[in-house]
Amino acid sequence: MTIYNLGSINIDHVYRLAALPRVGETISSLDHALGLGGKGANQSVAAARAGAQVRHLGAMGTGDDWVLDMLGAAGIDTGAVARLDGVATGHAIILVDAEGENSIILHGGANRALPAGLVTGGLAAIGPGDILMMQNETTLQAEAAAHARAAGARVIYSAAPFEIAALRAVLPHVSILAVNEVEARDTFAAFGEALPIAGLLITRGAKGAEYRDLETGRIWEQPAFRVQAVDTTGAGDCFAGWFAAGLSRGEDIATTLRNASAAAALQVTRKGAGNAMPTRAEVAAFLA
Ligand code: ADP
Repeated sequence: MTIYNLGSINIDHVYRLAALPRVGETISSLDHALGLGGKGANQSVAAARAGAQVRHLGAMGTGDDWVLDMLGAAGIDTGAVARLDGVATGHAIILVDAEGENSIILHGGANRALPAGLVTGGLAAIGPGDILMMQNETTLQAEAAAHARAAGARVIYSAAPFEIAALRAVLPHVSILAVNEVEARDTFAAFGEALPIAGLLITRGAKGAEYRDLETGRIWEQPAFRVQAVDTTGAGDCFAGWFAAGLSRGEDIATTLRNASAAAALQVTRKGAGNAMPTRAEVAAFLA
């Protein structure tokens, strides 16, 4: 069973500064770190390190080969990642001051310019038992979701960044919606709690997570593991990637939630997003 992931690929540039720059000011950074980011790439790495077979659908500029190398090293099939001329790879400029406060510039770049043929080409072999994951950082979501459902696959959609119009467009094709607490509130306000989907995953940071089977009404509660969090960037992506990996293996919901919670707990103890995703062996050792 394959997890297809239509998702963003970003390069995170993190600059540590004494203070955030004021208008017209030029300041030198104290430190620069480069990392893999983008909700799409983060979820692909999480699912692959969780042991799933993952095919990523997305786009990048023509440089930045190290990003593809990193995805490939995680075991991800990058054959459906388009390389676009004259478009920048998506990136985030993250400024962090001495107090840890940040300002972020996000440039969607290639993530927002996916070639139309990506869906039919990238999803040509998708079928029953496979999963399509998506988040709201690329174009072509509704097309991809409709294609996947028509082929008999399940669609897991992370409604992040939250946008009512984007969610409305994909909702008819979604099997499982994955949201954090804030996104859940926004979703219920816009669409009500009786969503026309099979399942709802709600993560609540250090308070844990819950899964609702909306067809039977059954609810699973998963507490978070207690850890010393260092950087919670990508925690939701880690959880979603591990959740999808568990489902694609046919594991029961309780086991899947417990593993995802352990993985996300480990992930928040490390700096970074995509590069901080734990492996199956690390999660097994954590739970032992
Ligand atoms: P998002 O990153 O999308 O906002 P959450 O903040 O809800 O997502 O975090 C996703 C999951 O990561 C949580 O359900 C929990 O399992 C885990 N997690 C997040 N923060 C912590 C924390 N401080 N300690 C332990 N686990 C955490």
